[in-house]
Amino acid sequence: MHYTSAHLYPVRAYSRILTPIHAHARDCRNAYKLYAHQHLQAWDTTPERLSPAAGSRYPNVPALQRTSRPSGSTHVGSRIRRHRAPILPDMNPYKITPPFYVSFSGGRTSGFLLRQVLDAHDGTLPPDAYVLFANTGREHAATYEFVERIGRDWCQVIWLEWATTGYEVTTPQTANRDGKPFADLITKRNYLPNPIARFCTSDLKVIPMKRFMHDQGHQDFTSVIGLRADEPRRVAKLRSDPTRDIAMPLADANVTKEDISQWWAEQPFDLQLPHDDPAFGNCDLCFLKGAARIERVIRHEPDRALWWADQESKIGARFRKDRPTYRQLLTQITVQGHLFQHIDDTTIPCDCTE
Ligand code: SF4
Repeated sequence: MHYTSAHLYPVRAYSRILTPIHAHARDCRNAYKLYAHQHLQAWDTTPERLSPAAGSRYPNVPALQRTSRPSGSTHVGSRIRRHRAPILPDMNPYKITPPFYVSFSGGRTSGFLLRQVLDAHDGTLPPDAYVLFANTGREHAATYEFVERIGRDWCQVIWLEWATTGYEVTTPQTANRDGKPFADLITKRNYLPNPIARFCTSDLKVIPMKRFMHDQGHQDFTSVIGLRADEPRRVAKLRSDPTRDIAMPLADANVTKEDISQWWAEQPFDLQLPHDDPAFGNCDLCFLKGAARIERVIRHEPDRALWWADQESKIGARFRKDRPTYRQLLTQITVQGHLFQHIDDTTIPCDCTE
C-alpha cells in the first residue's frame, strides 16, 4: 500500500493529544517521589542501614530505615533525573543541584533566569555550575553589550563558538561578530538550515554547551533553560525530551514575559535593543522570524541582510522556500520601499531561547 501524508494525519493528531497527557502523568509521579524524598524522608537501602526489624514477625527480613535528604536538593535520584518534577510550593525552583549550566542567550528572559539562580545560591554560582553563551556571530550589537555587562557585574559568562574542531572558548574581545561560526557551519554542512531542518540551534548552541560540560568532566548534568510559563508548548516539548536533564525554573515558578519586563524596568541596566523590539533578538534575520520583524530589522540596518544573502548565494538555495531570497527582500524594502509580495508574518517559535 502506498502511504501519503494524509495517512499520517491521525497519528500526528493522536501524538499531539497524548504527549502532554503523558508528560502530565509523569510529572505527577515525579512530584510525588520528590515530595516523599524531601519531606517524608527517603528509604535508604545501603547495607549498613539494613538490620532485622525489632519485634518483626519476619526476623530474617531486614527493615528499611529512613534517612533525610539534604534540604534544597531538587534531584532525587537517577531514575527521575531525566524529567524534572513540578515545583512544590515550599521549594525554590532556582536552587538547582550542580553540576548544571545556565543557557544564557543574551535576552531579558535568560538574564532574569540567571539573576534568580544566582540569588538562590547566595549571589554566586556554586562549584560545577556554569553560565554559557553560545555565540552564532549574528547577534545584535546590543545583545553582545548586555552579555558582556552581565559577565562584568554578576558572574562569569563563558562565551562559546562552534568550530570545525568542536567548539572554542572565546572572550567578549575575541568573539566573532560577523557570523563566521554560522557561515562555517553552513559551509561544512553544504546546505542551509530551514524551518524543517533547524540544525543551527543544535549545532551552534546545544552541542557546544554539551561538549563543554563533558570537557569539564560532567557526563550527567542539568541544562537550565529560560522557558517561561507563557510558552507551554515549548515547555511541553522540552519536558518530553528523554535524552536531556532539563530544568525550566521560570515555567515552574509561573513567570511570564510581563513579570520579566516589569523586573527589568526596575534594574540599573537593561538590554538596549532598538525600539525595545523582539524583532532584534537572537540571530538578526533568523529565517523563523515573521515578515514584519524581518522588515523592521532590514529597515533599521539594511547591511545585515547581506550576510544572509551571501549564504544563500554560496549554497545556491534559500533559507525559506516560501519567501523571496534575502537579496530580493533587501531590494524590495530598501529600493522599492515595501514588501510587494505577501510573505508569511508568523514568527515560528524556535528553540533558541530569549
Ligand atoms: S536564532 Fe534562528 S538562525 Fe539563529 S540559531 Fe536560532 S534558529 Fe538558527
